[in-house]
Amino acid sequence: MSAQDCLFCKIISGAIPSNRVYEDDDVFAFKDINPQAPTHVLIVPKKHIPSVASLTEADVAVAGKLITVAAGLADSLGIADRGYRLVVNAGEEGGQTVNHLHLHLLGGRRFGWPPG
Ligand code: 5GP
Ligand code: ZN
Repeated sequence: MSAQDCLFCKIISGAIPSNRVYEDDDVFAFKDINPQAPTHVLIVPKKHIPSVASLTEADVAVAGKLITVAAGLADSLGIADRGYRLVVNAGEEGGQTVNHLHLHLLGGRRFGWPPG
């Protein structure tokens, strides 16, 4: 799928509305439309990277930034003290449904292990 048809690229550009919670030059974060926890935010690179599996050496900085932003958001959204979960689904069996790399930041309830 090209960036032109990509749902999250359209959310980043504002062509599709979202509840934005963070934005900088490289990263965009917004509330998940179908939250699986009281706090459920998606953190995405502005660059169209289809999956964690497509990361290259050139993406190391932005990949690190996604995690750093997620931890900062956990703090500012008030879930850091209790704990939270970061999830990256990759490919079909991993449960990835949108082919633009995204981190799920989930918090506000207790999570089980192993995941379902
Ligand atoms: P995945 O299953 O690929 O790991 O996660 C995709 C996530 O995107 C899902 O949690 C789904 O609820 C969310 N999502 C799908 N379409 C939209 C949308 O149009 N807006 C928002 N805010 N989230 C979406
Ligand atoms: Zn995209």
